[in-house]
Amino acid sequence: RDHEPIARLVGAIKRYGPLTALDGVDLQLQRGELLALLGPNGAGKTTAIGLLLGLIRADAGAVELFGQDPQRIEARRRIGLMLQNAELPPTLRVGELLRLTASYYPMPRTLAETAELAGIGDLLKRPYAKLSGGQQRRVQFALALCGRPELLFLDEPTVGMDIEARQKLWAAIRQLLAEGCSVLLTTHYLEEAEALADRVCVMTHGRMIHEGTVEELRARVALKRIRCLSA
Ligand code: ATP
Repeated sequence: RDHEPIARLVGAIKRYGPLTALDGVDLQLQRGELLALLGPNGAGKTTAIGLLLGLIRADAGAVELFGQDPQRIEARRRIGLMLQNAELPPTLRVGELLRLTASYYPMPRTLAETAELAGIGDLLKRPYAKLSGGQQRRVQFALALCGRPELLFLDEPTVGMDIEARQKLWAAIRQLLAEGCSVLLTTHYLEEAEALADRVCVMTHGRMIHEGTVEELRARVALKRIRCLSA
């Protein structure tokens, strides 16, 4: 069973009224790998994650998480989430937020372990609302990994971070991968995919237009440029 995908979409279709947000998308995440979903605004990346999380239902196609329906609680306990625009109780201190979140999981990390991994040891006593945007993103990352997830969903994790904070977060993600955690990440940054991804999937208008390694993607982009120049 180890070679079975940890998360899978098969021919997934999702419509919002007249708009087709996902138009028959296939996606597979293997255990232990980091898959980066790339694509412009509105391509359908967040919708694809929403299906895998069981937050939204597909109109057609199959959706599996650990070989199960993602709405089953057993599947949900095994994942960590860092979504865009996370709403968190603003008055709680970071340490309190982490303790509370960890308490929902059967085998959480210790507070010290989470703080060390996410590099937020200095923020634990601060109220969440008083942090900068980049600091809040780091806390959101810490909350995603405190339950010791087998699979981590990171939706544009480093948006708004400076390059130093971004590289620290990349290092933490690499450490999680080394522990055997699988990661599905969305990003607008090709260099982020390059730094982390085993494979990339490029989406646009609800369709998967490329799947392969970052090198293959770069080669395709370069080829396109050459074709444009010679046209
Ligand atoms: P971004 O990079 O901006 O986050 P994305 O690739 O994650 O974009 P989605 O958020 O999945 O894209 O959106 C895909 C399309 O579906 C967009 O056109 C969006 O406007 C539309 N959409 C998403 N959620 C809804 C909703 N609840 N109701 C109506 N339309 C929606």
